[in-house]
Amino acid sequence: MKIIMLGAPGAGKGTQAKKIAGKYEIPHISTGDIFRANIKNGTELGKKAKTYMDQGLLVPDELVCDLVVDRVQQKDCERGYILDGFPRTIPQAESLDKALAELGESVDFAINVEVPDENIVNRMGGRRACVGCGATYHLAYAPTKTEGICDTCGKELILRDDDKPETVQKRLGVYHEQTQPLIAYYSKKGILKDVDGTMDMEAVFQAIVKILGA
Ligand code: ADP
Ligand code: ADP
Ligand code: ZN
Repeated sequence: MKIIMLGAPGAGKGTQAKKIAGKYEIPHISTGDIFRANIKNGTELGKKAKTYMDQGLLVPDELVCDLVVDRVQQKDCERGYILDGFPRTIPQAESLDKALAELGESVDFAINVEVPDENIVNRMGGRRACVGCGATYHLAYAPTKTEGICDTCGKELILRDDDKPETVQKRLGVYHEQTQPLIAYYSKKGILKDVDGTMDMEAVFQAIVKILGA
């Protein structure tokens, strides 16, 4: 099962992608997580990506596409995978489709998590990320047991630099301009599935499971 998660930054793609990956036992591939790991490790890719991410801009397609196309051909992706945060532009979608077509494959579902901009600001302002393992929480909607401390690894939680209000507005603009056109792209292919992302996390998950089938 090959799944793509679409939706604005902060819509809940990562939250749902983790749950789906767990239920269907397929890898969760987040390009944002890949970039953040590269930044943490000080790689060349990380250095390049950071300059764009800090400004709330997309990393150029040429730095993203090959990386994902290589990743989905690894052994653990044989039974499928869930892509979170990729594709984010029409050229990225085309490059994925082309690479898959060469393997005789295609994407099965594009799940579009719909959340209005008003709610997004709230979601991202309250999002907290673990500096150790990258786990995501929310001050109000997904709090940790001990404030400021990761439930999983015990490390400290931070507000991501790009989740600060100025950058959030910028990222929303970039989303509407560059990523939203993917909704029509996948709709034309007949694989788009809309989900109401304003429901609580478990209700959103159940709606997605219904689409994917048990
Ligand atoms: P969010 O989960 O809030 O949408 P991500 O973790 O997916 O954020 O991405 C963080 C940042 O990493 C993006 O704002 C962008 O700069 C960069 N990024 C991630 N995926 C891509 C991609 N497919 N194309 C271009 N840039 C990307
Ligand atoms: P994305 O990957 O789309 O950027 P996340 O999964 O990181 O989004 O979610 C953004 C923030 O909103 C996180 O702090 C997360 O805990 C919270 N969140 C996710 N889904 C919901 C939901 N259905 N209701 C309330 N808060 C949510
Ligand atoms: Zn942690």
